[in-house]
Amino acid sequence: MADCLFCRIVKREIPAVIVHETETTLAFRDINPKAPVHVLVIPKEHIDALIRLEKRHAPLLGDIHETIQEVARMEKVDTTGFRVIVNNGPDAGQAVSHLHYHVLGQRHLGWPPG
Ligand code: AMP
Ligand code: ZN
Repeated sequence: MADCLFCRIVKREIPAVIVHETETTLAFRDINPKAPVHVLVIPKEHIDALIRLEKRHAPLLGDIHETIQEVARMEKVDTTGFRVIVNNGPDAGQAVSHLHYHVLGQRHLGWPPG
């Protein structure tokens, strides 16, 4: 979508600190990090939210999980641990309507989240 913030990051119209890229995914640092490691992993394809995922997206979900694993290794949290969060809709506080996976680590993450 032309005016979508994360689509614009994919198109390099808005700067971001990109840490990893594949044909179908992009990983970049969150501008307002909530942990020492806070990377957002997104599909390059515009999908509004997790609730919009369809069966045809199954290979893309595999790609996203591979990218998350790669980011965890690159950020050295693969053995210490990390958390993956997807906010979906208003009650979860989803602020950007382009599916994104928060990858958080390098600090103790309390459970349950607030
Ligand atoms: P959510 O609340 O799950 O929709 O998360 C949106 C996230 O995007 C927040 O953690 C923001 O800090 C982050 N964010 C917003 N704008 C940018 C940007 N230009 N570059 C990187 N991260 C951003
Ligand atoms: Zn988008």
